[in-house]
Formats: sequence, structure tokens, C-alpha cells
Amino acid sequence: MDAKVKTTLYHHVGGRKVEGTSGRFGDVYNPATGEVTARVPFASASEVRGVIAKALKAFPDWAATPPAQRAQVLFRLRDLIRQQLDDLAKLLSAEHGKTFSDAKGSVTRGLEVVEFACGIPQLLKGEFNEGVSRGVDMYTIRQPIGVCAGITPFNFPAMVPMWMFPIAIACGNTFVLKPSEKDPSVTLRLSELATEAGLPAGVLNVVNGDKEAVDALLTDADVGAISFVGSAPVGEYVYKTGCAHGKRVQALTGAKNHMVVMPDADMDQTVDAVMGAAYGSAGERCMAISVVVTVGDQTANELIERLKVRLGDLKVGPYTDAQAEMGPLVTPQHLDKVKGYVDLGVEEGAELVVDGRNLKVKGHEKGCFLGGCLFDKVRPTMRIYKEEIFGPVLGIVRAKDYDEAVKLVNDHELGNGAAIFTRDGDAARDFTSAVKIGMVGVNVPIPVPVAYHSFGGWKRSLFGDLYMHGPEGVRFFTKLKTITTRWPSGIRSGAQYHFRGGGEH
Ligand code: NAD
Repeated sequence: MDAKVKTTLYHHVGGRKVEGTSGRFGDVYNPATGEVTARVPFASASEVRGVIAKALKAFPDWAATPPAQRAQVLFRLRDLIRQQLDDLAKLLSAEHGKTFSDAKGSVTRGLEVVEFACGIPQLLKGEFNEGVSRGVDMYTIRQPIGVCAGITPFNFPAMVPMWMFPIAIACGNTFVLKPSEKDPSVTLRLSELATEAGLPAGVLNVVNGDKEAVDALLTDADVGAISFVGSAPVGEYVYKTGCAHGKRVQALTGAKNHMVVMPDADMDQTVDAVMGAAYGSAGERCMAISVVVTVGDQTANELIERLKVRLGDLKVGPYTDAQAEMGPLVTPQHLDKVKGYVDLGVEEGAELVVDGRNLKVKGHEKGCFLGGCLFDKVRPTMRIYKEEIFGPVLGIVRAKDYDEAVKLVNDHELGNGAAIFTRDGDAARDFTSAVKIGMVGVNVPIPVPVAYHSFGGWKRSLFGDLYMHGPEGVRFFTKLKTITTRWPSGIRSGAQYHFRGGGEH
């Protein structure tokens, strides 16, 4: 082990820390220094099966716990997360690299899902019809699935797990979470807080690992549902493999979010929105704006001139610098990948008007920093347009009119988010209706649904049917049951050898 690596991480299973036994580990970096700060154990398939067995054992009792009592645990978890918000954000930033204020905001967005899940007694209410035919009543209930699993990405190591597990456990399921191997510490801490909040052992478990652990979850007969967030190729694999093994799967995946800027857009508002949405969190957001489609050359020219100035002023630094507006990329490997896309864009003939490749942050020369990059004259045939880069690299595509802009949005294979910036109500209304996109903003660059609405994209940005959190989250983590009742004292219809309709059973 590298002498500087001080920490060996663990799994959190059955309410306690468990050491990894596979002998395989992954490196966790401090992206601001480029140093490995910890190693995370990669669970073997048999270790994962052991975790699933713990979750299965905990299921009957937890499922039988009244929803109002489950909610009490979530209320306590909410308080603990609130009290420890700063510590959680620091832990997150130290492994992910995002600024402290951004990390805090992301934990808060996750916390809002915990708060939503506290309403589970109300959310699980079924429907009842008296007298669907004479003397016959009908009602529906939603029941937990059993053991559910979550597989989460590096970019939101607190928020995305909290999109999943609070609702899953509130619904009466038990949960096995496999966080990103790049920044797992904050996810482990959340699981420990759940134990402190009184969650019974085995209801929420965190197991670290790579493909071997994921495959074990996807193929185990005791796992009923898989919730995945990550890249499109892995999401497609998770969806197909999980479905082939009889599981319910939702896989939310990659993005190439377009912002259409109309000639009548408020330029001050637009420039602020582009800066935050393209370069915030170093572009490592699934709702980041990575393409701006300008309508008309004048719009493009004005926007680019103003972005050049703003990029010159962008403060890039470690999360410990309170002035930093953008942090490093998550690992040296990801930095190389994103830089490689900038090189590719130049080769493909796009015009690199701002080049962030040579940025050096004083005192952090080995950190995974990349300055904000801006390409003009990106064309839809280029790989830098078609593929998700997931870094602070923005491409401008010049469209001659609104129809061309909408066609671009619709022809892209990814369909997570999109936004239009305009003062024209007609254009905005048409855009919201016409685009084949899951989440749409009007003068809102990152239209992330709040916890009590549901999050998800279209096209190859989502494999499956049900979205994350909000009402769709409750549907995903429960099975519907419909019950028809008749009592002996009611109306008797004698033996029925044929189906009857029209309100008769
Ligand atoms: P990733 O796909 O590399 O990893 C996601 C998870 O899958 C991790 O837990 C990882 O360990 C696991 N994994 C990786 N390779 C695997 C394989 N071959 N087989 C099985 N499991 C594997 O994604 P990432 O780099 O951690 O996260 C960034 C991606 O996540 C981006 O594409 C981003 O758009 C996407 N994302 C999407 C949303 C959304 O809601 N649509 C939200 C956040 C992030």
C-alpha cells in the first residue's frame, strides 16, 4: 500500500462496519491534490450474497412495522443529517472535489427526499370503491417488494443514494446499496446515521465494489428490484441483465443537455445561467448544460464574447478555498478522459475559443484541475457533440432558426434535460410540448424536479418505466395489489359460469 494511504474503508452491513475479505481494493483520491487518500474494498460475489442474506432476514419484521413507525426513524435520520450537514459536505468534497457550498446543496437536495419519505403513511394510501357491483367492494394496496438494491454514480454520492433508499425503506423494503467506488465515504456515513437513527440492523446495507459486486446483485434471486444511476452503457447493461433475471429495474443514465438560446433571450440572465449550468461542479452533473444551441449568428457572437470574459474570471480551486466556484475533476483518470475530448474537438475541427487545459492551481499543481473550456462551431456529426464528456467543456452549436434548434434536441440519442432561454411565450410553450426530453426548463437551466415530483429522462437517458423519487419512486418500490370482497350476508348471485360486466360480479 502507498505510504500516504492512511485509510482502508469498509462495508456497512447489518448496522455495523464490516471489513472486506476479497483482498481486492480500489483507490480513492483527494482530487485537489491528486493523491490517493484511502482504499476501498471490492466485495466478492460471495460477500455480496452474504449482505443480501442479511437484508432478506431483516425484511419480514421491517415490512410488518407500521408505516408511521418507519417514518419516525426517517424523521430522526432527517435531524441527524441536518445537524451534520457541514461534516457530510466536507467528507463528500474531499473525495469528489466539488466546492463546499455545492456539496452542501447536494446533500440538502437528498435530505428533501428523506423529508418526502417521512410522509409515507399518506403516500401508501390505497384506493377504495364501495359497491363495484351489488354487495361487492374493491380496494388497492401497495406492498413492499422485498430486498431492493441501488447502484450509484460518483457525481452525487449523497444525493443519488438518497433518491433511492429513503423511499425504498419507507415503503417497507430492505436495501443493499453499492455506491461509486470513487467517493464512497459519505454514502457509508449516511448508512451509519440511519443506524444511529434507530433503523433496525440489515434494513439498509452499504457494500462497496466494482462490476463483480454489481453482477452479484443483478443475478441474485433474492433481489426484487434494482435502481441504477450512472452512464448509459452501464445502465443499459444493468437494465438488460436485471430484467433477464426477473427483476424490476429503473436505470437513469447519461445526458447531453441542450440549452436553446433565442435571439430575444435576456443576455444577462442567459450568461449567468450558462456559467453555473456548464461549469458548476466541473460539469460533472447529469443535468449540466453541455451544449448551447444559439439561434442566429448574432446571438452566438454576443454570447461567446461574454462567456470568454466570464471564463477568464472563473475561480477554480480546492473545496477548502471558500472563493472557489469550480473544483477539480474526480480522479486523474477522469481528467485525462475529459482532456482527451478537448483534444478530439480540436482534431474534429471545432473552434476552441477558451482552452482550460493548461490551468495550474497554485499549491495544487498535481490536482485534477481543468479550466473551463468553450468550443464554438460544434457540428452534430462530431463525437464531442454526440458523446457525453462529463467535464467543464461546453460546445456551441449555431442554428439558423428555432425549428433547427428543436430538431437538434430531438435527434440526440440522450434526453435527460433541456432548456430554452427566451422572452417569447409562444416559443417557450411550443418547446416544452415538442421536445423529446424528460425534464425541461424555461429560463431555468437545470430543471431538476423537487423531491415530491419525479426525476428521469427520455430516450437513452432512462432504461425502464418509472422515474426516481416523488410519486413514481413510491410506485417503483411497491407492488400493487387489488382486492375484491363479498360477504356472506351480502347479495348472493349463485354459481357463475360466465364472465359478467356492467357492474355485476
Ligand atoms: P458509471 O456508469 O461508470 O458507474 C455507475 C455505477 O456502476 C458505479 O457504482 C460503478 O461502480 C458501476 N459500474 C461501473 N462500470 C460497471 C460495469 N461495467 N458493470 C457493472 N457496474 C459497473 O458512472 P459514473 O462515472 O460513476 O457516473 C457518471 C455517469 O452517471 C454520467 O454518465 C452521468 O450522466 C450519469 N448520471 C446520471 C444521472 C441521471 O439521473 N440520469 C444522475 C447522475 C449521474
